[in-house]
Amino acid sequence: MREILVLAEHRKGVLRDITWEMLSLGKELAEKMEAQLTTVLPGYEVKSLADELSTQADLVLLVEDERLQNFSSMAYQQVLSTLITTRKPIITLIGHTACGIDLAPGLAAALGMPLATDCLSLTLTEKELTAVRQIYGGKVNAEVACSCEKGCIATIRAGVVSPWGEETRKGKVEVIQSPSLEGISRQRFIEYVEAAIGGVDITQADIIVAIGRGIQDKENIPLAEELAKALGGTLACSRPIVDKKWLPKAHQVGTSGKTVRPKAYIALGISGAFQHIVGMKDSGVIIAVNKDPRAPIFEVADYGIVCDLFDFMPVLKEKAKELLQRR
Ligand SMILES: Cc1cc2nc3c(=O)[nH]c(=O)nc-3n(C[C@H](O)[C@H](O)[C@H](O)COP(=O)(O)OP(=O)(O)OC[C@H]3O[C@@H](n4cnc5c(N)ncnc54)[C@H](O)[C@@H]3O)c2cc1C
Repeated sequence: MREILVLAEHRKGVLRDITWEMLSLGKELAEKMEAQLTTVLPGYEVKSLADELSTQADLVLLVEDERLQNFSSMAYQQVLSTLITTRKPIITLIGHTACGIDLAPGLAAALGMPLATDCLSLTLTEKELTAVRQIYGGKVNAEVACSCEKGCIATIRAGVVSPWGEETRKGKVEVIQSPSLEGISRQRFIEYVEAAIGGVDITQADIIVAIGRGIQDKENIPLAEELAKALGGTLACSRPIVDKKWLPKAHQVGTSGKTVRPKAYIALGISGAFQHIVGMKDSGVIIAVNKDPRAPIFEVADYGIVCDLFDFMPVLKEKAKELLQRR
């Protein structure tokens, strides 16, 4: 049976969003290729996660071993290379996450298989995998192709595929014996280092006012803070604001910050680099304010306002106060 293989990623007993995203992509590929959608779950005491996965895959391969309790690229490589060698899937999907970036290149090299990294979308035929990846810091989408006749591996960027969210399968869970995991003692899990708590959790906010380099000066940030407060929202920002140490990292939206899905996202003076867009594109309503009518942020905005943010902020703040007083 032809097979599409997805590596399930989990941390501290919870499946990570990227797993559901890859299963959604895997489902599309499996339907097109008339293949079985299989997910591999390496871990320890993770049967409940296997049951969760079985709602969206035809088959869950559960590989339990105490040495797989925490991610280890060496141990995962042994598990996957054994499975890929015996099962010969058409393609293996791995998240382009800290774990996937550590795992996929070594795995591909060990198996002598083509690898496409950080893919935004995939097209599969009998012979070839075509992947869309970004180059030049996200300015160009490039199509790359590789042979998949003897199998191939792709890492998928987080947030580019929407998870199905509903139960689409009633898959089987098959327990697979863990390989010997020889030589993995060179790599040892020590601890998870949690991100520093910056006193704010922007992922929980219903309304976000996000500032970018257009705010121009640290002295201007209170103006945006006042606007956020008047709207009952939370202040967030693009990366340059954090790089300049104007706001703590906990406020950053984007690939190297947080992914947010508020009801309303107001982007002030943010150009719309893909690294930022990935973190906010699923917001309910996106309002972008920018002096430049060609700013890429307008491509994802529901409402685009071409103006100076310093003219816009006081007007919206007054309007918000007025509306609150009427309540
Ligand atoms: C590996 C990597 C990871 C990254 N991760 C992230 C990330 O997680 N999050 C993130 O945001 N970025 C990230 N970046 C950076 C990203 O590529 C962009 O450089 C960044 O998002 C740009 O921030 P910005 O839009 O605030 O600034 P700019 O691109 O400089 O845009 C400023 C905008 O403000 C507008 N403007 C200026 N003055 C005004 C005014 N008075 N009124 C209205 N508009 C005005 C300008 O027209 C412009 O469009 C990452 C980059 C790399 C390489």
